[in-house]
Amino acid sequence: MAGMEANAESYVCGVSDAPLVYQTIGETLDEAVRRHPDRPALIVRRQNVRLTYAELAAAVEDFAAGLLALGLKPGERIGIWSPNNAEWVIAQFATARLGLILVNINPAYRAAELEYVLNKVEARALILARHFKTSDYVAMARALDGELPHLEEKIVISDETVEGFRRFSDVAAAATPALRADLRDIAARLSPDDPINIQFTSGTTGFPKGATLTHHNIVNNGRFVAARQRFTEEDRLCIPVPLYHCFGMVMGVLGCVTHGAAMVFPDEAFEPQSVLDAVEAERCTALYGVPTMFIAELDHPSFKGRDLSSLRTGVMAGAPCPVEVMRRVIADMHMREVTICYGMTETSPVSFQSMPDDDLEKRVSTVGRIHPFVEVKIVDAEGKIAPRGAQGELLTRGYSVMRGYWGDPDKTREAVDEAGWMHTGDLAVLDGEGYCRITGRVKDMIIRGGENVYPREIEEFLYKHPAVQDVQVFGVPDAKYGEEICAWIRVRAGAAVVEDEIRAFCKDRIAHYKVPRYIRFVDDYPMTVTGKVQKFVMREAMTKELSAPATRAG
Ligand code: AMP
Repeated sequence: MAGMEANAESYVCGVSDAPLVYQTIGETLDEAVRRHPDRPALIVRRQNVRLTYAELAAAVEDFAAGLLALGLKPGERIGIWSPNNAEWVIAQFATARLGLILVNINPAYRAAELEYVLNKVEARALILARHFKTSDYVAMARALDGELPHLEEKIVISDETVEGFRRFSDVAAAATPALRADLRDIAARLSPDDPINIQFTSGTTGFPKGATLTHHNIVNNGRFVAARQRFTEEDRLCIPVPLYHCFGMVMGVLGCVTHGAAMVFPDEAFEPQSVLDAVEAERCTALYGVPTMFIAELDHPSFKGRDLSSLRTGVMAGAPCPVEVMRRVIADMHMREVTICYGMTETSPVSFQSMPDDDLEKRVSTVGRIHPFVEVKIVDAEGKIAPRGAQGELLTRGYSVMRGYWGDPDKTREAVDEAGWMHTGDLAVLDGEGYCRITGRVKDMIIRGGENVYPREIEEFLYKHPAVQDVQVFGVPDAKYGEEICAWIRVRAGAAVVEDEIRAFCKDRIAHYKVPRYIRFVDDYPMTVTGKVQKFVMREAMTKELSAPATRAG
């Protein structure tokens, strides 16, 4: 593999015997059906759904034809706002088949965030769940009546009729032979280079940015992620990670479909017990998760006595994995070929992945080696390439780099330079063999339980509270979530406010995982001489306060 040879500079480029494939998502599904029509494709335990590849393709065709009957056209945007279910996967392929750009909306979003993203992409249609946990999606969508000028069609995933919404099953039932024929004509005109998916990642500007990905981006990335785990049609992957994120829909769904493997969804959202049940009952060979998910599974009271011997491989990604956890995943969960991935939404997502036979040390201290056909370099603060072993910002180039942020050429130019390098904002070190270590973040992003949280977005929201004069948000280390969110607030002169009022202000207006766990009222912030706020000083002070048992909060 290139990148392994001694090279004084921090640059690697991956190679592979298998070339990139140049096909649409629809063609990818067609190929799976041709090769493995009767093999299991989609298992959704909560819904009792079990579809072979041929059955999945038929469900996809019906829903695609139904969308066509609604007058939706290639290139138009259609949102999906739902936890994991069979309809999500069917919609992913049906929209791609019709050339509709699927816009993934985080199921934890509330009305204000939904309004922003739907209007940003000028979505003509929205597929939404009925409700989940404390989110009543239908009520939130109704509350936005009149605020979504482009939205014409609302499709609800529900057995019951809901006034003002079409039912998912009714849309699919409208399919006719003529519509199916039209669909085939449309499919023949689509290009793998067309944008097909927009994934919103929270932005430092305070608004989420829509990373726009093509068929070619995500078909190939999903394929290589699964290839490195040595997937075949015999594999059965347990997917507890969310479909709205590329971990679910690209690494999970497209990883399986490119190899004819089975997708097993244990539940609508992560629950350790349902994951363990699914692995055991479905004899899963692979399991995905962020480190906190694996910790919850290992710590579950029912873990002992489980038969997880069918497991072989999987992916742990999104945050660094503690060595003890990795040891137990290999020994107690039998995932001896588990791999680590590193990447970001803007790069489809994966750039680095460990090999199933990399030694334990490498698998916990690094994110493995470069992916096929991807280039990475590490640069110093001036943008000059760093020598091997030196820390700098990680830049990625290749087939996997997004088309851009939807409707935001300025932000796109800031992220992807003229030579095509995506500036990730992550700090990393490349060793002499090409293994990469992620060492921090240039930006201040907080990762709480695998969710990216950008302080600026929460700050801008909290500024709207009448008693808030100024606010600084940052992450503090947390045993359970990796990081927790802390806000230091300066209160307006003459105003009075308590912690619970701030939390109540956040509730139902921003996603629950963005609500600060720790809130402190302060007179001043630590500043540099040039007047820049020093978040790292606040972080240190809070970390000290929280680790002192007498003053431990909440
Ligand atoms: P997202 O766009 O949501 O996939 O988040 C991408 C960010 O997650 C990256 O820019 C990294 O900061 C972080 N990340 C992803 N994978 C890893 C990993 N294996 N180790 C450390 N950080 C990671």
